[in-house]
Amino acid sequence: MDNFGDKCARAMGGLTNKTWELAREAIRACVTEENFSTYFRPLRFVEAREGRMVLAVEDAFFGDWVRTHYLELIESELKKVCGEPVHLVIDVRERAPVNRKPLASLQADPRAKTAQSEKLALNPNYVFENFVVGPSNDMAHAASIAVAQEPARTFNPLFIYGDTGLGKTHLLQGIARDIRKKWPGKKIVYVSGEEFTNQVIRSIQNREMDSFRAHYRKACDVLLVDDVHILAGKERTQEEFFYTFNALHTAQKQIVLTSDRTPQEIKRLETRLRSRFQWGLITDIKPPCFETRVAILQRKAERDRILLPAEVSQYLAQLVITNIRELEGALVRLAAFAGFHRKPLTIEFAEQALQGIVDTANQGVSVSDIIDLVADYFSVDNNEILGKRRHRAIAHPRSMAMYLCRKHTDFSFPQIGRGFGGKDHTTVMAACKKIGQAVESDLRIRKQIEQLERRLPIG
Ligand code: ADP
Ligand code: MG
Repeated sequence: MDNFGDKCARAMGGLTNKTWELAREAIRACVTEENFSTYFRPLRFVEAREGRMVLAVEDAFFGDWVRTHYLELIESELKKVCGEPVHLVIDVRERAPVNRKPLASLQADPRAKTAQSEKLALNPNYVFENFVVGPSNDMAHAASIAVAQEPARTFNPLFIYGDTGLGKTHLLQGIARDIRKKWPGKKIVYVSGEEFTNQVIRSIQNREMDSFRAHYRKACDVLLVDDVHILAGKERTQEEFFYTFNALHTAQKQIVLTSDRTPQEIKRLETRLRSRFQWGLITDIKPPCFETRVAILQRKAERDRILLPAEVSQYLAQLVITNIRELEGALVRLAAFAGFHRKPLTIEFAEQALQGIVDTANQGVSVSDIIDLVADYFSVDNNEILGKRRHRAIAHPRSMAMYLCRKHTDFSFPQIGRGFGGKDHTTVMAACKKIGQAVESDLRIRKQIEQLERRLPIG
């Protein structure tokens, strides 16, 4: 049964990177090409010793997935290649953040400066072409494009804020990429608020404050700071940032900042910084409306070559409402699951696959908690909500409660239907869709939902 690969690996003496490469090729023959490139190609060989091999992956989600679904397969292929049992460890090792290099060395090596913007670790998917524009983000998108086309000509600074998972980093990296393409000579510094803070701390400790300042003030034409709200309460970092900001702004260098809230809402932010953040344009990104969510899913499915029927994308778009990262995560998980079971993507399949996965953070609230809360808010009887009367005075609170259950619990549409006295899942879906749309277009309903959400036990 020995083949050439086996011989090679054994000849090389035990477990090596080569063993892994051979096993991976063998696995390629047993899984779909899509699964192969999603789960196996990104696995990197780290080390192997005494029957134990460590492979690394950058993303915790994929790490989990590989561990639960493919560990046995990989171990058995490794065994075939090397002839003895292999204990496999899948390790999650995130890629080193951008600009981790000590600042001094950036300054010391003249090539480092010019090569710096080429080395920006940008996510290849975070480009403007992949960004779906809708009413929730069109302003932030247009402003980002304007800034990328003419840095420091239009809005300076550009301040983009919005909840997590709505596309701030995507836009910021889109700006970085476009500027780099259009002006290869411009020095771009792309840094997270956290990394900036760490750099300040390190520079103080290593007495490198001068090179830190030089790095930001002299070797920077475009400063992109992601999650600047993290500077809240960090006085020394804020002070450094203030001087950097001033120096760059005076020199007409473009500054773009993202944050999870407005400058006003960032607590413990120096007034002088707050006021500077407001000098240019402040624009927000809101949760996308239903249609934008569907478009985002379809765009992602096309890009990843996932066969996604329209009704499933609509189902997913109703399921995951407020966070695009989760929305995409649900799609990836679903596609992986379908690929693994060799099943087509249908709504039933989606329900089963995603059960208990989406929005797990809010497990604490039950359907009946929400019904009680809503009944109390609208002064109707709980039993009316569970009943069948269709009068608006009852039907509206019922729909609102269903929507809140969908948004704040892990329950599937059929489960929610059961919690509402045995309603059909299509009734729940219709209610969620109706309220979801009304939240976008009807101020009164949005206010009601906000007030109700404030009364929820958590989240
Ligand atoms: P944030 O920085 O606001 O937390 P990200 O920029 O990291 O959010 O976006 C989360 C995920 O959602 C990313 O994969 C991103 O590509 C995707 N995404 C966000 N907005 C859009 C959009 N409008 N079109 C396509 N994908 C989007
Ligand atoms: Mg981000």
